[in-house]
Amino acid sequence: MPTIKKEVILSGVGIHSGLPVNVVIKPYEKNGIFFKRVDLDDVQLIPARFDNVGETKFRNTTIGKLNAGHVQTIEHLMAALFIVGIDSAIIEINGAETPILDGSASEFIKKIKAVGKTEGDLKKIIVKKEVVVYAADVIKQLSLFVRLKLWMFNKINGRKVDGFVKLSPNQDGVLNINATLVYSEPIIGKQSCVYSYDGTKKSIDDFIKNFARARTFGKYSEWEYLKKRGMGRGANENNVIALNDAGDGTLNKLLWKDEFVRHKIIDAIGDMFTSGGVVCGNLESYKGSHALNNLVLKKLFSNPDNYDIVQ
Ligand SMILES: [Zn+2]
Repeated sequence: MPTIKKEVILSGVGIHSGLPVNVVIKPYEKNGIFFKRVDLDDVQLIPARFDNVGETKFRNTTIGKLNAGHVQTIEHLMAALFIVGIDSAIIEINGAETPILDGSASEFIKKIKAVGKTEGDLKKIIVKKEVVVYAADVIKQLSLFVRLKLWMFNKINGRKVDGFVKLSPNQDGVLNINATLVYSEPIIGKQSCVYSYDGTKKSIDDFIKNFARARTFGKYSEWEYLKKRGMGRGANENNVIALNDAGDGTLNKLLWKDEFVRHKIIDAIGDMFTSGGVVCGNLESYKGSHALNNLVLKKLFSNPDNYDIVQ
């Protein structure tokens, strides 16, 4: 049950809420990562676990019941805890959304790594049987109204609903991620990348060097639309890669040509860590989303034949 050695304090704004928020990551003597909404009268421990993930809104991972003590956009902080190797902590937060910082996992990792962790390894969740979930499975769970809106949006933007996320066993007992993005915007187009995590310093350094700084992205012209709907209010050119209207350029400079898909690796790492350990298997994400990542974990854990847990 490795935990953080000392308290870490982080401040910033939520990317969707736009509200200032403080986070204090504290050591915890029991197992699990829990958020604690200290701004509410009813202070409860909110498990950062796949089975407590609510509406993902397609753009982030939210735990707890919406508007009843939820915390949204936990994925980059979860990825940072995973990479440092911390599976036990209390995260006090005085708002409903973690700070976006620079839009990546880099700042979180730097601060948490500087403090360090106690002894111990993350538990392993060995994938024994293949499980796969499809974008159509996610859509099925939505209300008719939302489905209609989504259908319209996809039609207008020429987007196909053919994404999937698959977990399959491998012999090596490591997490291999293979992510592919397909966008009609020419600056993104089709991008793929792979990342392997085996707990060694080499794989951790690889993540820090080649993935952790990749930022989230969005279309500049969509910001106004999103803001009216309570999303993206904290987005600016310092924390989001902003695509221009033609989709053939960005308003801020890219760190890598394929920064978009590299960010998907951060999201996948953060989402898989809501399992409570290292998911040891091959994760194939084709046009993946937070909703699909969550659904594949739910499917994996729905049948004890699908996995083994090694402490
Ligand atoms: Zn993200």
